[in-house]
Amino acid sequence: MEAPDASAPRPSDGGDATRPPTASRIASVEAIPVVTHTVDASDLDGSAETVLVRITDEAGRVGHGEADASGEVVQAFLEMADLHAWSLNPIDLLTGRDPFPIRAIYDALYEGTIYPGRRGLGIHALSAIDVALHDLVGKQLGRPVFELLGGRAREALTPYATIFPGLPNGRTLPEMLDAISALFDQALELGFRAVKMEVLFYDLVTDRELVDAIVEGRRRLGHEITMLVDFGYRWHDWRAAEATLARLEDQDIWLAEAPLQDDDIDGHRRLAEHVRGIRIGGAEIAATRFECREWVDRARVDVLQADISRAGGFTEMMRIADYAHAHGVLVVPHGWKSGITAAASTHFHAAHVACPLFEFLHPDLFPSPIRSEMTTDRPVIRDGVMEHPPGPGLGIEIDDDFVARHRQPRRGGGS
Ligand code: MG
Repeated sequence: MEAPDASAPRPSDGGDATRPPTASRIASVEAIPVVTHTVDASDLDGSAETVLVRITDEAGRVGHGEADASGEVVQAFLEMADLHAWSLNPIDLLTGRDPFPIRAIYDALYEGTIYPGRRGLGIHALSAIDVALHDLVGKQLGRPVFELLGGRAREALTPYATIFPGLPNGRTLPEMLDAISALFDQALELGFRAVKMEVLFYDLVTDRELVDAIVEGRRRLGHEITMLVDFGYRWHDWRAAEATLARLEDQDIWLAEAPLQDDDIDGHRRLAEHVRGIRIGGAEIAATRFECREWVDRARVDVLQADISRAGGFTEMMRIADYAHAHGVLVVPHGWKSGITAAASTHFHAAHVACPLFEFLHPDLFPSPIRSEMTTDRPVIRDGVMEHPPGPGLGIEIDDDFVARHRQPRRGGGS
């Protein structure tokens, strides 16, 4: 085999000869944990904090991304010292590069961090970079991200509202159902026509009572509304899950999310083989197309719910969605962070034919400063649909004062 030519340009380097006039190299990359301490850590909403990745080009244009993972740990990953060719500092890998060849950059980052990265947290960190690169290149070109992803796959964009009044924490089932019902009304008022009822009731209810609660939820919602149900990893026993879903077959449930433990791939397959009339969803925690492939090939779920700010950014999500689409599987992305992830999900939904719906955590339904103040844009939803997001890039504004106020100081001092 011929030895590689060390002087040959790396494929991700772009090349000056063909650079368009709008191109500008990456001047700086920052990972900024933003912490508000406003959401109860004993509950299940992770929006008390985020970690912003800010990529600035030589012309001063800025692209933003975030990761749905511990901010401090993502920051440490992105700032780690070079150790060897498979454990490199991601920020140094980016600085000075043309940001345009995004997929090649993603692959270089993946290979350059494969020892500590590969799945899980390292990929969550690369997700933030990948989204920030799309935002930046969109701004350089004056184009919305969904056009960088290939253009419109659909005219009407359909978000679904997640309805979660928090964990029971001492509340009774009727109190939980009333809280959910009030949020249903608010979601419909905001224009949603698709909602997800989170039934994270665990020991508060038997499986029979859970069926009654979901039937009651459907009754309060009415039958015109698309209804999804999130079970929050309730069962360790696919037979118990199957018996419950069988009792819900006539409720027109669009999706049963997270019925089993996330790593119970074979249990998901057995469940998916037995349930009639309700799609089975999973993989909201997954990172990379390789992990998602297991959910398609082995778990045989109907819907992948990977998150753009965790699975590997737009680059990896498009690969995941292409694989899913070729195997008759849908992708409905999870998205629980700030307006950055919300905007990213909107662009992805706009651009991929396998994504018929997307999760949109409206700040009015999930009040937290990270959601309502860090990005100020609130898309209008009418009769269940929203407009294509504006560009350039993600088409959102970040409130830099908010970020400065809530920037987490480093442990042990320094900035
Ligand atoms: Mg979920």
